[in-house]
Amino acid sequence: MTQQQTDVLELLSKRLDRQLHRFLESMKRYNKLRLAEKQRASRDYDYLEDFYHRFLAGQNQRALEIVSPEYLEIVELADRQFPYPTSWVLCMDGRVLPVLISGASADIGDNMRVPGGNIREFVRGINGKFTLLEHSNFAKLLASAFERVESDTIVEVFDSHVACAAVKAEETARGREPADGGLLRDVLHKREMAEATKEFARHKLADKKKVIVIQTSFDPHNGFMFMGLETEYALAFAKEKDPGVPSFTGEVLHALAAEGKIISSEHIAHELAIRKLFEKYAFSPDWRTKYIQTSGQFWHAIDAMKHDAYASIEGEVLKVYPQISKKR
Ligand SMILES: [Zn+2]
Repeated sequence: MTQQQTDVLELLSKRLDRQLHRFLESMKRYNKLRLAEKQRASRDYDYLEDFYHRFLAGQNQRALEIVSPEYLEIVELADRQFPYPTSWVLCMDGRVLPVLISGASADIGDNMRVPGGNIREFVRGINGKFTLLEHSNFAKLLASAFERVESDTIVEVFDSHVACAAVKAEETARGREPADGGLLRDVLHKREMAEATKEFARHKLADKKKVIVIQTSFDPHNGFMFMGLETEYALAFAKEKDPGVPSFTGEVLHALAAEGKIISSEHIAHELAIRKLFEKYAFSPDWRTKYIQTSGQFWHAIDAMKHDAYASIEGEVLKVYPQISKKR
């Protein structure tokens, strides 16, 4: 760390200390105005004071780490692993973390996290058509993505994660209680978002700009992921299992994965060749205290494994999306 960085940190720290102190004092004043039985104990504020200091110090430390030359080299290595610049729209669920989904630590790809991964800027018009609002934040981000990268094609990933509390709450509010907590309905909704995104790129962005859209379903219970739930086959399969309320229960997902009709990263991970590769490049991740080191180990492993892993993964993808091979 340079002398200048240390000075800035010290200044920042004093200023931050003052701001935090004032903030907590105002919370304490507000607490005293509450009805006696609703007042919080003073130790709650001691806890908050300690928590905020540690949290902000940690964030400041991370901010310095991610501008270090060592980390910038890792970002370059990570960027080279993606065929096109890639962005994710994820749920803000604390378990659905970009580093767990795609190894995307700071500045690798772009991640937007909103409740349920549902952007409210897609609306259904009176003609029943689902569209992205032209002057919305997401529309602006899509357009500006092409200015930030040197590519006429970008990839947008919409994730419908398993056991989403936000999606389930919406289902409950509508008086529905599907067995999958609303997963299937969310996949259908994101399919419409995906179509509207492609439509927006076709008609509203400059010539030759293309957005490739991918749908995934991350399972926060085990860190594995599904792909292909939005395909006609998977949807018809769920409907056949339960014509009343089709849903993607664990049972349905595992049956589809066993048939090779959806992609399951768990299945891929258990293939012998992939398992051996994983064992060869295994390391112990520690995103909290060894951020740069963990990111470096992750992307060096991906870089080293990709050639050998490609054949089996490509096979799985082409089984679920045969139209890709036809187009090539
Ligand atoms: Zn969620």
